[in-house]
Amino acid sequence: MLNKVLIANRGEIALRILRACRELDIGTVAVHSTADRDLKHVRLADESVCIGGARSNESYLNVPALIAAAELTDSSAIHPGYGFLSENADFAERVEESGFIFIGPTAESIRMMGDKVTAKETMRAAGVPCVPGSEGALTDDPDENHRLAREIGYPVIIKAAGGGGGRGMRVVHTEAHLHHAIEMTKSEAGAAFGNPEVYMEKFLEHPRHIEVQMLSDGQGNAIHLGERDCSMQRRHQKVIEEAPAPGITAEQRAQIGAVCVEACKRMNYRGAGTFEFLYEDGEFYFIEMNTRLQVEHPVTEMITGIDLVKEQLAIAAGIPLQLTQDDVEFRGHAVECRINAEDPATFAPSPGKISNLHFPGGLGVRVDSHIYNGYSVPPFYDSMIGKLITHAGDREAAIRRMHGALEEMLVDGIKTNIPLHRELMLDANFIAGGMDIHFLHKRLGITS
Ligand code: ADP
Repeated sequence: MLNKVLIANRGEIALRILRACRELDIGTVAVHSTADRDLKHVRLADESVCIGGARSNESYLNVPALIAAAELTDSSAIHPGYGFLSENADFAERVEESGFIFIGPTAESIRMMGDKVTAKETMRAAGVPCVPGSEGALTDDPDENHRLAREIGYPVIIKAAGGGGGRGMRVVHTEAHLHHAIEMTKSEAGAAFGNPEVYMEKFLEHPRHIEVQMLSDGQGNAIHLGERDCSMQRRHQKVIEEAPAPGITAEQRAQIGAVCVEACKRMNYRGAGTFEFLYEDGEFYFIEMNTRLQVEHPVTEMITGIDLVKEQLAIAAGIPLQLTQDDVEFRGHAVECRINAEDPATFAPSPGKISNLHFPGGLGVRVDSHIYNGYSVPPFYDSMIGKLITHAGDREAAIRRMHGALEEMLVDGIKTNIPLHRELMLDANFIAGGMDIHFLHKRLGITS
């Protein structure tokens, strides 16, 4: 096993990684910004290093400082968590060049999946179903692009190869707007991502977001851990996730899972990863692969009983995957609510001191959070302060359990989105299940 892991992240995920390391008797190094001295995992880690100022680019994105911290503490591996440098191929490369293990895929895999055009080409070649669209990047030939759009059928979406976080996309409903939209997206993509390449896809009007969790050891073994439904989104940010996805049959699961397993094997993919799909009218369409652990990984852990972080650590240590596909069994249903420090009506961030805190508990209730009584939520980072996860025999019971847990949960001193989650757990449409990715926007009265 690994000897000592440096956790290159903050907040709940840093704590999550620390817990897994402790269970495996792996030493832990916490790194933190000047604003994060009081983080829970910093207090619990074997060692801690302050790596820079409050702003992310001075600390959590500061590659030389992270490498220096790993050298100083004689760490053997670096876990990037999610966000920050987790999908930065140059960082993965620097880590390995400096003699440390990067807990994640190779820089090559990250780079390949980070460029959406190459990612899609790779997936198509591996037999993964993709959204109908252009083969590769669009050319500058307007006639060719018009022909392509007509063939795909309007509406189409123009997407930047280097895009991310829901940026660099434009929907086109009629031919008259196509040329302009392509030009605009190209110039924006060039400025924002340093890569003006764009591609075209059919715009799906009522898709759900369904993603498949993978574990692959880079030594020829890969398995899938079923799917999650993350259709409850606000501005492309997931708000509630669940596993399994409502209405997906065991046959569909096995089928899409097998396709993803094949793709991982073909890429010789190493680590945990997620294939994201849009799902419409019974069909899966690949949109992107995330080459890291995801925020919503606990719902998969709850229904499979498999600790994804421990698996990541074992894979990084070079241990072949011990689990086979037959070992993966799905039990019951799990729901996760992301708890954010924000105004539940306006969504404005609400940092500040937590004056009174009470977490819910009981059978099938899990809280992944770094906050504690008296903790001050700093204004510099993502507003997520934790995740509440419930697991029960079926979906209805998991939702009821979630509602009860939300009623029990108390976070005073700052505003949180707990009231919104409570409402959603009582919403007849949410309870019915299978809502598309636009449902939450409509529910919240957001029109854009
Ligand atoms: P990003 O990396 O920016 O998250 P994605 O390719 O994952 O980009 O797309 C983000 C979101 O944009 C999707 O979750 C979906 O809501 C919307 N989207 C992307 N492609 C399509 C499409 N072909 N049809 C409909 N919606 C799409």
